[in-house]
Amino acid sequence: MRRIVLVLFLTLVTTNLFGQTRPVILKAARMLDVETGRITSPAEILVRDGLIAELGTTTAHPADAETLELGNTTLLPGLIDTHVHLFLHPGAQDLQTLSESVPQRTILATIAAREHLLAGFTAERDMGTEGAGSADTAVRNAINKGLIPGPRLRISGNTVDILGGHEDAVGYNPDQHVLPNATYANSAAELVTVLRQQFKEGADFGKIYETGRDTVANGRVSSPYQFTEAELTAAVTEAARTGRKIAVHASTDPGALYAARAGVSSIDHAEQLSEETMRLMKEKRIFVVPTFAVLDYFVTHAATKEQAATRQRMIDVHAAEFPKQLAAGVPVAMGSDVGPFPHGTQAREFTLMVKYGMSPLQAIQAGTLNGAELLGWKASLGVLKPGYFADIVAVPGDPLTDITALEKIQFVMKAGLIYRRP
Ligand SMILES: [Zn+2]
Repeated sequence: MRRIVLVLFLTLVTTNLFGQTRPVILKAARMLDVETGRITSPAEILVRDGLIAELGTTTAHPADAETLELGNTTLLPGLIDTHVHLFLHPGAQDLQTLSESVPQRTILATIAAREHLLAGFTAERDMGTEGAGSADTAVRNAINKGLIPGPRLRISGNTVDILGGHEDAVGYNPDQHVLPNATYANSAAELVTVLRQQFKEGADFGKIYETGRDTVANGRVSSPYQFTEAELTAAVTEAARTGRKIAVHASTDPGALYAARAGVSSIDHAEQLSEETMRLMKEKRIFVVPTFAVLDYFVTHAATKEQAATRQRMIDVHAAEFPKQLAAGVPVAMGSDVGPFPHGTQAREFTLMVKYGMSPLQAIQAGTLNGAELLGWKASLGVLKPGYFADIVAVPGDPLTDITALEKIQFVMKAGLIYRRP
């Protein structure tokens, strides 16, 4: 055990010294300006002290710089997934949260974090540990200290739920007192108390289940709301008191409308939204996070034909509704809901966003620029610009003509440190 730790430590130190002592010049066939969609070709980026120092068709070539030739690739800002679950893995979700200890799940989460980084995701928002409480605080802090590789993280601890709600352990023997995967709050006052506790334990934001469970029939999604508008407003106000935000899981109205009126930062899943909800989201710049990838995976990996059919009906509604959300000007952030499906494969979300109506540039903006804005890192991440963190990936070919290039990451740098080379 000690030897494994030592080897890992030495590897990291070597990388650290390498990254921080010498400037690096990245050379590639192309570089994408995600703000304008403009391609620079050929492209060079000079990285120094973890930051982008210069970029263009050519840059200064300091004598001590190492040059990395990345060939027929396109340089992009590091990808940002705003809906992940590091503490889940493929397999029966509810069962794993029952049978696996929090320490075990934390170890798996650190491995997942590494897989996300190697897949090009240099920043992420973890949307709930699902029963592991504030264990995500330790993972985020270990990454920030350079102890383990992983994306920059915004974390929420457990999601907040009502008694008998979306992620409560409904349907078990009551005498066994099976605990939920979420933390209960059943009033505005309880929401404030739970959020204060979570923030004390390290959460960057609060995640609330606002709808569930869903049913789909005749092209309509129905889902009971969980918290009233007044309760959500109390949660948003309490989070804002310390500069934090609230994100909600909501598939449809009226829950989504209550969340939009309360002023949450994002509405995740959002299969079907009313005109009024979309109008408010545009006006208040509340992001929609479509999470197509998780449902897509569940259709092909359903336990029964009935389950697959129900999930397909949900996708069909979402596919019809998503273009309306785009047309209404609702800002979109990329979020895959990875965890229930294999870690490191979540760039498939980009492919699906394009399949359901976005241009490749819009999809890339959702997973870079908009993700950085939603996570509160707009001034330092999400674009390739001098002074920004050197969070840079390279994909084969041109992602504007083939979005699946994002599923084939060839090079990953975070804060000037190289984690993946061709
Ligand atoms: Zn989720």
